[in-house]
Amino acid sequence: MEPSPENLKVAVRVRPLLSIDRSQDTIVYFGENEEIRVSDGEHYISSTYNKIFRPEASQDEIFDFVSPALGQTIKGFNCTIFAYGQTGSGKTYTMFGADWEMNNPAAQIYYENGAQMRRKSQLESIDHPLDNPIKQGIIPKSIAMLFQNTQEKEITYYSSFLQIYNEKIYDLLQDPRRDKALNIRESKMYGIYVEGLAEFVVENAEDCFMLLAKGDRNRAVRQTRFNHHSSRSHTIFQLLLERDKANKRGVLKKGKLNFCDLAGSEKYDKENTMAHEHVQELTKINKSLSALGKVIFCLGTGNATHIPYRDSKLTRLLQDSLGVSTRTILIATVSPSAGYAEETISTLKFADRAK
Ligand code: ADP
Ligand code: MG
Repeated sequence: MEPSPENLKVAVRVRPLLSIDRSQDTIVYFGENEEIRVSDGEHYISSTYNKIFRPEASQDEIFDFVSPALGQTIKGFNCTIFAYGQTGSGKTYTMFGADWEMNNPAAQIYYENGAQMRRKSQLESIDHPLDNPIKQGIIPKSIAMLFQNTQEKEITYYSSFLQIYNEKIYDLLQDPRRDKALNIRESKMYGIYVEGLAEFVVENAEDCFMLLAKGDRNRAVRQTRFNHHSSRSHTIFQLLLERDKANKRGVLKKGKLNFCDLAGSEKYDKENTMAHEHVQELTKINKSLSALGKVIFCLGTGNATHIPYRDSKLTRLLQDSLGVSTRTILIATVSPSAGYAEETISTLKFADRAK
């Protein structure tokens, strides 16, 4: 493939075959030079990407791929990392990690104490969340890296956690029941922001883990109580970096980091009739994912004149983080199983158009 622009990197991660997979036959083949081929006799694709992660790839290898972009955030570049793929393909595993709750002591303290968020003094007695780095995904590893490398006192970090469900934005930290949809605003001073979204000052990695745990918990609450799946909403964890006003030349420097665990990209299941509500959910998801595809495609071509940010809440929200002078990383996740040939090929095509 042609060298892709510095602002956009596209990778594919093939997860291991799992016992839950529809078929135990594999239809994914790896070539040289980051090539991947998928064929089930009926459908076919062969393409190359910036990076292919095979099933045995570790969480560390994935993190090594994204960490240069994180370094850029400290310099003031906005950066967005997406996990894109059908439900069950490994998006949450890639972004958050395996058994995320079980491996996150902050989450456990949170669960044990019920609804009240606990202060970090309680965390001091327990091991660091990254004591199990093998399983941690991009988000916890990024948090650890940022707080390790930026001991500079003049940087203030803010964090928020939101979801986009049915083209509406909700605060995952304050509004688990999705009672109040929030609006996107734009101002000269703050750029694009979500009005009313809670932004917590985070002083260290543990503060971030607490917020992650709370948002995760809220996602789960909604899921059981209303029988909805979190895979139907886009989840975005944001970290905002702000350099102190007292900085040299008084320049206020900001960097924004967005971690997106996207809604499942699967199409309608033709064999099953779906409730009207679910059809509507899927329609909205497909609409916003295709809007995202168009925006990323524009970035890839280097033509920044008419990027259709306003076609979806997702792209509008991320407008100032999805541009020519930002860093965007798309990780397309797929199962190797023959049971999902159509979805896998569709995911690879999406990633192919993006690069
Ligand atoms: P998604 O978020 O795309 O719906 P998940 O991340 O929840 O998918 O993954 C589905 C299942 O596959 C989970 O049980 C997860 O632990 C497992 N899984 C995903 N990716 C990997 C991987 N690279 N290695 C091992 N297990 C994985
Ligand atoms: Mg998921």
